[in-house]
Amino acid sequence: MTRADAAPLWIKDPLAILANGAERGIVVQDGRIVELVATGRTPATSDARLFDAGEHVVLPGLINTHHHFYQTLTRAVPDALDRELFAWLKALYPIWARLTPEALDLGMTLAMAELVLSGCTTTTDHHYVFPAGLEEAVDIEVAAAKRLGLRVVLTRGSMNRSQRDGGLPPDSVVQDEDTILVDSERVVARYHERGDGAMVQIALAPCSPFTVTTSLMRATAELAKRLDVRLHTHLAETEDENRYCLEVHKCRPLDYLEECGWLNDSVWLAHGVHFNTDEMPRLARAGTAISHCTCSNQMLASGACPVCALEDAGVRIGIGVDGSASNNSSNLMQEVRAAFLLQRGRYGVERVSHRDALRWATQGSAACVGRTDIGKIAVGAMADLALFKLDELRFSGTGDPLAALVLCGAHRADRIMVGGRWIMEDGQIPGLDLADLMRRHSAAARALRPA
Ligand SMILES: [Zn+2]
Repeated sequence: MTRADAAPLWIKDPLAILANGAERGIVVQDGRIVELVATGRTPATSDARLFDAGEHVVLPGLINTHHHFYQTLTRAVPDALDRELFAWLKALYPIWARLTPEALDLGMTLAMAELVLSGCTTTTDHHYVFPAGLEEAVDIEVAAAKRLGLRVVLTRGSMNRSQRDGGLPPDSVVQDEDTILVDSERVVARYHERGDGAMVQIALAPCSPFTVTTSLMRATAELAKRLDVRLHTHLAETEDENRYCLEVHKCRPLDYLEECGWLNDSVWLAHGVHFNTDEMPRLARAGTAISHCTCSNQMLASGACPVCALEDAGVRIGIGVDGSASNNSSNLMQEVRAAFLLQRGRYGVERVSHRDALRWATQGSAACVGRTDIGKIAVGAMADLALFKLDELRFSGTGDPLAALVLCGAHRADRIMVGGRWIMEDGQIPGLDLADLMRRHSAAARALRPA
């Protein structure tokens, strides 16, 4: 793997680039973008080495704001097919209860490899299943991310409201509140990096209103505030969740969130499908952002997130692929296209362009994870880049290269740079044998399923 170089590198004359004033490319040095090179100019930086990007469309690296990596082990499970969220979860919990550290490592590595290949430079993950033996799930995840060189915001998930307390999950996959809070504090102290350029960050993430007690929701918010880390959870995903909240908490999910001390600018929420017009300005005023998970919402027939209405109210929107068992894919570039199609269908050609969808997956996603140093091509930003070639049949004959990525369905990047390091070159992730990974991952997935 190539290391970030102190020497400047001119990514020269791209076919197209998602930035203004960078028609002749950009110069990166010490992990950051140090110069944009406009039409007719050459870099002011002397001695820059060259990377000829004449065949590449250059994007800010895409940022994935919601996922459950371990679910790559339970894709297209027969018993979970054709079910909505609650029934789908009940079909899968018993399989997830059998997760082992080895299987988890394979599931996480495979998910991250899929993301990198699809143009992702920063990803979150929401790991909330902690059966006995899997207490160090976050540690396993940090190690896997470091091996790949991917920037990550890992969330220490949790569930403590199981069937015996009126929740949805079986008792064997939940932990008690003290265990969760102690481990949350441990992983923040051990792994959370602060400031620009952080490669590993930790956020806290109780799973959902129907799997976590009110006490744990409140205690987690207090802990996150004390430790100065972000908060994440699922909210407003389905009508079932609305009914559950009204029945158990006597209010709608957003009211419940506020009661728990969660309506603020350190929070980003997955889904946000079922917010009403009174709730949208409240989210905006609070600075709470939404991760739009198009494919998952369609797969589970949860509904369609009102992305443009939320944006018009002032809410920041990012993109998330969601778990590989609901989406069944971790391809972030395809998620951009899916979000573009769904939202354009809903709001029209005047409101939604390919540039909006790319903005959601870059600047919008950066806002979800509370970062200003990524998600854009600008002087001072981290050198996190996704380079795509237009050398497949689907692109032949295209006019606008940037539009072609979204409209023609780009699904695989050619090169990925994170913090000035190439972590993928010529379509390959150095040091990762994909065939061997798939063989071991498939074997682990088979072993988890009941005979
Ligand atoms: Zn999810």
